[in-house]
Amino acid sequence: MKLFPVFTRKLSHICNLKPYKDTKWLMPNGNPTGVYVYNCVADQRVPVILSDPHVATWYSCGPTVYDSAHIGHASCYVKLDIVQRILKTFFNVKLITAMGVTDVDDKIIKKANETGTDFKTVAKQYEHEFWADLASLNVEKPLIITRVSEHITCIEDFIKKMIKSEMAYVAADGSVYFDTSKFPSYGKLQKAPDSGEPSSEGKRNSMDFALWKGHKPGEPSWDVEWGAGRPGWHIECSAMVSKVFGSQLDFHAGGIDLQFPHHENEEAQSCAFHNTGQWANYWIHIGHLHVKGDAKMSKSLKNTISIPTILESFSADTFRMACLISNYRYPMEYDTQLMKTAEDVLNKFKFFLKDAYIYVNNNSANTADYEYNLLEKLQKVEEANIEALKTDFDTATCINSLQSLVSSAYRILKSDTGDYYPIPILLTVEYIKSVLTRFGLTLEESAESVISNSLIDTLVEFRHTVRLNALTRKDIELLNACDSVRDKLKSQKVQVNDTNKGSSWVSIK
Ligand SMILES: [Zn+2]
Repeated sequence: MKLFPVFTRKLSHICNLKPYKDTKWLMPNGNPTGVYVYNCVADQRVPVILSDPHVATWYSCGPTVYDSAHIGHASCYVKLDIVQRILKTFFNVKLITAMGVTDVDDKIIKKANETGTDFKTVAKQYEHEFWADLASLNVEKPLIITRVSEHITCIEDFIKKMIKSEMAYVAADGSVYFDTSKFPSYGKLQKAPDSGEPSSEGKRNSMDFALWKGHKPGEPSWDVEWGAGRPGWHIECSAMVSKVFGSQLDFHAGGIDLQFPHHENEEAQSCAFHNTGQWANYWIHIGHLHVKGDAKMSKSLKNTISIPTILESFSADTFRMACLISNYRYPMEYDTQLMKTAEDVLNKFKFFLKDAYIYVNNNSANTADYEYNLLEKLQKVEEANIEALKTDFDTATCINSLQSLVSSAYRILKSDTGDYYPIPILLTVEYIKSVLTRFGLTLEESAESVISNSLIDTLVEFRHTVRLNALTRKDIELLNACDSVRDKLKSQKVQVNDTNKGSSWVSIK
């Protein structure tokens, strides 16, 4: 894939010439961060350039809170969390994050009618559940949360300006539509699928979209200058972002299904509102999660798995590892095999961290020495990982190279030469721990299991001593007993790993 060369040009200069005619991605003016990210407008990777190299604004489209979130949502928000953490912890970018919550919507109103309550109660309940679900997945909460019902005035002001500038018009039923015929660059994120059908609902052009929905009986509504009604979906994000971040946005993120029409419409109305050729500089779109064999996970297909349900079978770390090894932009083929693979990869790291500590604390070892091969490998992996993350946040390559580093380190841990290399092993341990925690993995056992953990430690240590003894004496009966203890522990979700220097364990689900 060809990359844009890093140079900058003055955006304002271009904008003054032809505000809405640019269908190309415009290179922002500022400081390159060294990171390249795929952009759907350019249809290739482009350099991330920020006016302040260490500060960026980031808006994510949040949930429409009418039902419980499922693991399709979980993969989207975990992957966004991973990308944000990479920018913050590997590239030293301070992110000012905001997320919009849609708490007024057809589906929320429908649910309220079905359950005999009002839309506010429904929205509150599911928003609360949403944040609890994200916390259980170790997703950092956005710094700013904007709710539609709390931003009606700024949405009204936004639409008023659109009507005044004749970029939007009021239809007979009090709805307001954006006039796409006055915006030549419409379709720059994704070519608009022209249905060829005549326009309906009082629209002038078939691609025009509602900024405001005229009042219908039984629906919540707000009185505005041109009548009563409620906001359309797309206008919410534009108006709330403009209120929070002003006329320019660095990152705008959401699931790939939002690229068209939601983000296209957001970009069109925001460029028109701010009289600019480019509103959001970087679009981050997360690939869908597919249940293997199905097209997409959705409520209507009744193939959803809730977040608490998945966390009964797998840890939040395992789910995050599944996201890491499938990269943010690509579809994630969900099945038990994927989760088992993710768990195996995670356990490989956990075992290594434990085995390494047993190794460095081995008092019977010879005098310590350096092991240059491993130090060289460590340095190469560090450099390669930065390159991978710079290149559109390629976490899968990173995890692969960490695994290969672990394999190299194990050659030292398992060596029978009697040589002792605690320093390169400890540096490797620290590096692996630091990368994994920067990706948002906790690597922790749950707090309530601390006591049982120390009991398991004692048992595993005792078994190790017995086993070594049995090996020396070639006592088959005792070795069989050791194997049986190992198998029983495994059935209790404790996996034991034996080496000649000690035995370690991790908990599995
Ligand atoms: Zn949005």
